[in-house]
Amino acid sequence: MLLLNNLEKLQDFIQSINDKTLALVPTMGALHAGHLSLVEEGLKQAEICLPYIYVNPTQFAAGEDLETYPRTLDEDLDKLENAGAQAVWLPSTQDIYPSGVEITHKAGALAKPLEGEHRPHFFDGVVTVLHRMFSLSKPDIVMMGEKDFQQLQVVRDMVRTENIPIKIIGVQTTRDRNGLALSSRNAYLNEAEYENAIALNKIIIQFAQHMITEKEAHALILDSGFDKIDYCTAVNSETFEANDPNRIMAAAWIGTTRLIDNVPMMA
Ligand code: AMP
Repeated sequence: MLLLNNLEKLQDFIQSINDKTLALVPTMGALHAGHLSLVEEGLKQAEICLPYIYVNPTQFAAGEDLETYPRTLDEDLDKLENAGAQAVWLPSTQDIYPSGVEITHKAGALAKPLEGEHRPHFFDGVVTVLHRMFSLSKPDIVMMGEKDFQQLQVVRDMVRTENIPIKIIGVQTTRDRNGLALSSRNAYLNEAEYENAIALNKIIIQFAQHMITEKEAHALILDSGFDKIDYCTAVNSETFEANDPNRIMAAAWIGTTRLIDNVPMMA
């Protein structure tokens, strides 16, 4: 597996693959089986799979976990090599933000509710970094997880409205045996917090099956040991509005750890 740790190596690699199809897998590292499922799917749908690892500063607000975000590069590289990635791109901040670390692209209207209300900087940071990553690596397809469902739809909307000739592929959420969506931030949970965290998925499934109301879901989440709910609500997966709901979206806090999850609703 090639390590592309500067722009020259990236350009050489892109040139060397000629017209082979390229799947890009954006990640912030601290890789788990969810990330690796994106690599596996990328290798099924394209000839070359290029994951990148970059903890993007513009999608963190002051006071969020940019400094403490888990960084496990050696393990990450082993995992990517075992998954069959032909190369991994490790850009520097100078590569990505040559004119300084700032927002250069704004996300569209889909970014306003839910995550956008609670992390107003977040999607502008995501679309800023992805514009740069897309223009440098010129992928045919980009693999993204349904775990971050609103992000997936915001990026789909971005490539559609800006006519960027890239296909965004959504990949199902990988969960542990208790149903907890795998997340790099799960590393922040201690044993007792983990036991509480596994309730979130079970509760949103009940909500998705119309067995409980939104109000009951909120009460159950708080009863399970979550400290705060940012949102837990039924929305339409194309508009993120309450009309014609088909997806349950949730974000809640255990101590200082913020967890998100989402599931499709039963008809
Ligand atoms: P991150 O490193 O958290 O920025 O995530 C990188 C990519 O992996 C994003 O497209 C995420 O949606 C995806 N991802 C994260 N967790 C999971 C999971 N449990 N299952 C599938 N994809 C995931």
